[in-house]
Amino acid sequence: MHITEYSFSQKKVSCYFDADFAGLKDLLQDARTVIITDENICHLHADKLAGYPVIKIAAGEENKNQLTVDSIIGQLILMGANKNTFLVGLGGGVVTDITGYIAAVYMRGIKFGLVPTSILAMTDAAIGGKNGIDVGVYKNMIGTIRQPEFIFYDYSFLKTLPVKEWINGFAEVIKHACIKDALLFKVLEKYSLHEYQSDRTLIADLIEKNVEIKTAIVTGDEFETGDRKLLNFGHTIGHAIENLHGIPHGHAVSIGMVAACNLSVQLNHFHAGDAAKIVRLLARYHLPVDVETEHAKVFEVLKMDKKRTGDGVQFILLCKIGKAEIKYISLSDLEKHFKEIV
Ligand code: ADP
Ligand code: ZN
Repeated sequence: MHITEYSFSQKKVSCYFDADFAGLKDLLQDARTVIITDENICHLHADKLAGYPVIKIAAGEENKNQLTVDSIIGQLILMGANKNTFLVGLGGGVVTDITGYIAAVYMRGIKFGLVPTSILAMTDAAIGGKNGIDVGVYKNMIGTIRQPEFIFYDYSFLKTLPVKEWINGFAEVIKHACIKDALLFKVLEKYSLHEYQSDRTLIADLIEKNVEIKTAIVTGDEFETGDRKLLNFGHTIGHAIENLHGIPHGHAVSIGMVAACNLSVQLNHFHAGDAAKIVRLLARYHLPVDVETEHAKVFEVLKMDKKRTGDGVQFILLCKIGKAEIKYISLSDLEKHFKEIV
């Protein structure tokens, strides 16, 4: 195990890499811990949870809502949880988001730590302090930005992660390479999903690299006034498609990144050959690169995007692989190019 500390405005967050879940209790010392997890993790890793009070939620993004929050808060009250209770969120992005949110609002805020168990949560969702819940079709409509005490990485959880969740998580990994790290892009071109699944050192290095990239962006711009927006690469069109087609987040982001690449070629002098390289890399990791969709409907949803300002949208475009920038695109320009990019 090794520890890296990252400084945020509110506190320092310790990342425990290559750790063993059994060692978590040493970190908690005498804090009264309650673990929040989902039914899948609870079932697959029951042995690890023995001795902890556990609150179990139903799995899946459709449960990241106020109903689940109410149920968790009801259980915390029944357990006698108070200001000294320490929450641990053990699971994928749904669990880490909900745990951070509950910790922010229960008794006006209690301490929490995260143990991400999916590729997406390890490389993305658990990092940066954003938490929240969905309201109907509106993703992450309610939430706060609040850092955990620690993020604890036990890679052995990945042994039970379904392959479709591996694929989903790699969309964000490829995103990080596209916007910030040309070298990582080359590494990803060299290996395959299967190699990452079967080689512990390889996946450990990849996860740590991605934590580094995301924390560097986020600590530089905790409250999203500048560089943090780059993390939205592929997400503007991605979110519209995700809502409309009900496809997994990683798939939608993959399609959204292809669209953003095409737009970058048309509007930002991005090299068409590099756009093709990105499409090939996404396909290499079994991610979809296009979708049959109704352009008019996608465009309607885009117009409602929360990043929309005035009569345009802030778009993340690439200048080259490993370098992105924020560009304001008017809705009329976007409409002009829309049919060719999605
Ligand atoms: P995310 O993709 O944001 O991590 P979820 O929290 O919904 O989203 O996790 C995706 C799915 O993977 C859920 O069904 C969850 O129960 C499951 N899951 C997460 N981690 C593991 C794991 N280590 N083993 C088995 N299933 C897991
Ligand atoms: Zn995402």
